[in-house]
Amino acid sequence: MTQASVLLKTYFGYDRFRPLQREIVAHVLAGNDALVLMPTGGGKSLCYQLPALALPGLTLVVSPLIALMKDQVDALQANGVAAAFVNSSLPAAEIARIQTRAGRGELKLLYVAPERLAAAGFRDFLASANVSLIAIDEAHCISEWGHDFRPDYRNLARLRQDLSGVPVIALTATATPKVGRDIVHQLNLAGGRTFTSSFDRPNLTYSVQPKRRARQRLEALLGRYRGQPAIVYCFSRSDTEKLAAALTAAGFSAAAYHAGLSPQARSAAQERFIRDKVSVIVATIAFGMGIDKPDIRLVVHWDLPKTVEGYYQEMGRAGRDGLPSECVLFYSFGDTVKHSYFINELAAVAERDNARQKLAQMVAYCEGEECRRRFLLRYFGERPGEEGSCGGCDACLAPPPSADATEITQKILSAVLKTGQRFGAGYVCAVLRGARTGQVLERGHDRLSVFGIAPDYSDVVLKQLMRLLVGRGLLGKSPGEYPTLAVSAAGRRFLSQRQSITLPRVQAPETVVRRPRAAGDLAYDQGLFEKLRGLRKRLADEQGVPPFVIFGDKTLMEMAHYLPQTATALRRIFGVGEQKMARLGEAFLTVISAHVAQQGKG
Ligand code: ADP
Ligand code: ZN
Repeated sequence: MTQASVLLKTYFGYDRFRPLQREIVAHVLAGNDALVLMPTGGGKSLCYQLPALALPGLTLVVSPLIALMKDQVDALQANGVAAAFVNSSLPAAEIARIQTRAGRGELKLLYVAPERLAAAGFRDFLASANVSLIAIDEAHCISEWGHDFRPDYRNLARLRQDLSGVPVIALTATATPKVGRDIVHQLNLAGGRTFTSSFDRPNLTYSVQPKRRARQRLEALLGRYRGQPAIVYCFSRSDTEKLAAALTAAGFSAAAYHAGLSPQARSAAQERFIRDKVSVIVATIAFGMGIDKPDIRLVVHWDLPKTVEGYYQEMGRAGRDGLPSECVLFYSFGDTVKHSYFINELAAVAERDNARQKLAQMVAYCEGEECRRRFLLRYFGERPGEEGSCGGCDACLAPPPSADATEITQKILSAVLKTGQRFGAGYVCAVLRGARTGQVLERGHDRLSVFGIAPDYSDVVLKQLMRLLVGRGLLGKSPGEYPTLAVSAAGRRFLSQRQSITLPRVQAPETVVRRPRAAGDLAYDQGLFEKLRGLRKRLADEQGVPPFVIFGDKTLMEMAHYLPQTATALRRIFGVGEQKMARLGEAFLTVISAHVAQQGKG
């Protein structure tokens, strides 16, 4: 493992492995199979890239995302690693050339798309090549239980047979145990080990904001991240275009992205975003699968996602590089109604129930009063501690002020009881507020003692209170399309024992989203950082690669903090390996020295 640590600094410029990475690398180097379940940004790539450098032969990397392969290979080459890719975007002659190089042992990593594995020529090539390791990225694509099943991944079972004896490492950011078990089964990894890291993303700050005056809120948010990469997810294609236009008119650098655009328009938008030519991408969830941009600082959900899994995946695209980043969801109860409408249209009962249940969980995330991080971790089967602030969510950073709500709770529970526990929230509200609607009059509910006992409350506030009471277990809600409310045993005790209750003030001032917590945040010279970003952009454009292939933000921040002015000092900076030192060191040292000299004079 000492050799591995040397390779880590020489090629990648990193000082140490992350804890699980070290174990995985050792396990794979010993010739074992492995399944790695790690969240986005966890550092999966290194788990096979480092063994690839240490092993004698070729490492074959199967990846479904053609658009991503080139960036990954560019990044490896920039670090001096002999890597290449073959996929349908290359001419046959080029593919043949690359395979010849691989056959001669000139490559350490070869990235391929799964459909290539079935091609006869490719199977012959593999049989003759000296393959030391097979890495399967996005391994959940082999499972029909996953969210992104790809039939081409079935080819992997045969690859496994063709290259029997070659160790396999499968990797995915899927957090579902069921999918994990399916991967082990499909790839026949039973003899190997499964490595699961926590799915916590400590550098991400989560918050939910009411979807009121949403445009204004969005602009304020984006204003705090001006010039930095951000994604705004919308439900409908037309919303992405409208919002992108409105943001552009408001002076932001924004572009729309959705599956209805031509392939050219789509890849142009994606390319401009990856190369920092546009800061904000307003997109449907079609956007993101094929991108690996490490420095996305903000992900906003303009509409409610349908499942927590989907939400976790989309917002998880923020802050892959481990730097503080923010995930904000705009929530309105109206969005729930919209989704429910579509769910009710589903023909299959099982599918409908499943979708309803998933949506209910998503709503619970938004309406809950507890720590968002703990909610997510528990959702994915972890057992986070119950105590203390996570320091990175709105519930922990700015809990809404609570107020005594005993009286209104008594009124709500009584109204549910007196109307016979047969109605939904809307009807109970009408009674409480004293609305003489046709239905209320027909049923004679205007003569009940609870009629009109809460005239000062709006419908919206009453409904929100009812949801809180459901959350606290005082009210029960029937499942199904038209849920009715009932008072639970705890609710009856509340009334009979004259208990009191405090609830968050539902008309509380809008939550303030704080700056993300400064995990590993350095105080650095902002002016120099901007100059270094400029240099990075220029070099990236010259070389035709995305800026992060040159250096990541963390590297530039360390430079702007430590102000290295000699080669030795620069080598100590995060992300500066030997290859980059040789090719880029001088350019960056020049800018840093000039800046320091200028500061000294000023
Ligand atoms: P994943 O594929 O799991 O989403 P990546 O492999 O892209 O994650 O790694 C995410 C980020 O973490 C990369 O930007 C990389 O720079 C960083 N990283 C990975 N391993 C290390 C390490 N040992 N030390 C420092 N940074 C690391
Ligand atoms: Zn929290």
